[in-house]
Order: sequence, then C-alpha cells, then structure tokens
Amino acid sequence: MNSAPLISVKGIGHRYDGVLALDGVDLDIPAGGFVAVLGPNGAGKSTLAQIVAGALRPLKGRIELAGADVTSRAGRQGLVDAGVALIPEGRRLFGQLTVDENLMLGAYGKPRAEREARLAGVYELMPEAVRNGKDRAAATLSGGEQQMLAVGRALMAKPRAVVIDEPSLGLAPILIDRVYEVLDGLRRDGVAVVVFEQLATHAMKHADQIVVIDHGRISHRGAVDDEATVEALRMGYLGHG
Ligand code: ATP
Repeated sequence: MNSAPLISVKGIGHRYDGVLALDGVDLDIPAGGFVAVLGPNGAGKSTLAQIVAGALRPLKGRIELAGADVTSRAGRQGLVDAGVALIPEGRRLFGQLTVDENLMLGAYGKPRAEREARLAGVYELMPEAVRNGKDRAAATLSGGEQQMLAVGRALMAKPRAVVIDEPSLGLAPILIDRVYEVLDGLRRDGVAVVVFEQLATHAMKHADQIVVIDHGRISHRGAVDDEATVEALRMGYLGHG
C-alpha cells in the first residue's frame, strides 16, 4: 500500500519579478483530509493554492502526487486529469454561459451520459436558486450561489482532491456555512479538501489540520484542536492577543 500523502509539495520557492511569494514551503495533503491554510493578505496563499493544485509550476521545489514526482506536469492544465480540482479566487465562472453550461464544462471531454449522470448528482448539492436556474446566466446568481456553482463545476470532474482559494471571500456568514457544509460532505465521501483563507473562523470549524502562512513561509502547522494551534492563531494571526 502506498502510504505517501495524496499531494505533497516540498521545498517550494516562487517569485514574481522581484517579489518573493513563497520561500521553502513544505505541505502535505493526506487523502481524505481537510486542511486549512490561513494567512493575511499577500502571504502567498493564492500562489501556494495554484502550486498544490498543479496549476502553476514553482520556480523551486517539487510537487508529488501519491509519491510520484509530477512537477513537470504543473502548468495550465494542472493535475485535473489526476483528480485534483482547483477553484481559484474569484471563481472564474463563465458569466454569460448558463448554470448548466458552466457545470458541463467541468466534465469536458467525458461521454454525454456520464456528464448527465454527474450533473444530476451535483445539482442535488446546489442551493435552490442554482437547481431551479439551470438556464440562467451564471453572472445573474448571487455571490454565494456563484461560489456554490464553482464548487459544483469542480465536482463535475469527480476529483480526489479539491483546492479552494478563499471560498468565503465576499460572502455573508450564512452562505459561507453553506459552502463549508458542501465541503464537509465531500470529505465524508473521501475527497481531500484544502482551503486557503484569510479568515480563520469558518475554516477552523471544519478543517482537521491548520497551517499558518506569512510572508511566504509556514509559521505554524498542527491539529485544529492543538493548544499550540489556537495560540498561534490568537497571537500571531487573528490579532486578538
Ligand atoms: P491575497 O489574500 O491578497 O490574495 P495571497 O496570500 O493569496 O494574498 P499571493 O496572491 O500568493 O498571496 O501573493 C504573494 C505575493 O506575491 C504578494 O506579495 C503579491 O503581491 C505577489 N504576487 C502575486 N501574484 C503576482 C503577480 N502575478 N505578479 C507580481 N507579483 C505577484
């Protein structure tokens, strides 16, 4: 049996022109785990999210999938074929396309019958406005509904891991709860979930592992209920010290 983590990034370094975004980051995502990477603005979360999902090739370090080096596959297409789905910040839906069309794109290339079957399963997870609005342009959905649709589109690929960048950004707390409930459901089905968030509150209710990132480096990692984790968030990050 392969006991390697589902996704492992090692010694990751990345920069944009003169800006250092990540410096020596190691991160393991266990199969079926729920990991929250928390950090302030500009900490390097989006960069790391893209690298963990294989959507961006790091300048330094390697990406492993179940122990195999997949660094050279990282780039635009990412690791979608290997079952790793990225939901980028801002959702990147096709606003002029319908809800149905956006979802179908998530299973692009699959046989029609398979896509239809997946679509039915994904609609069951969607809020009413999405379920009853299959022919609406995605741009006409509310922010929360769009976030759910973005999750739904990722699920159309039947992923083993879902990587989400700032799922709670711009959403009312009640909608954030809805999004996290869907993520919880995925985890119960064995899908690994990785969220990157600025706000710790919701992520801490659902994740089992917390990683804190600041200035491109990991400053803390631990189980969500470790005293050290709570302390790290309180003192160093939440600013409630
Ligand atoms: P935020 O929460 O504000 O989105 P973040 O934690 O996701 O921030 P990143 O977006 O990964 O952080 O950015 C890390 C650093 O890299 C920041 O200093 C940012 O300005 C810089 N950076 C990110 N993308 C680019 C880019 N395309 N060109 C130049 N610098 C970039």
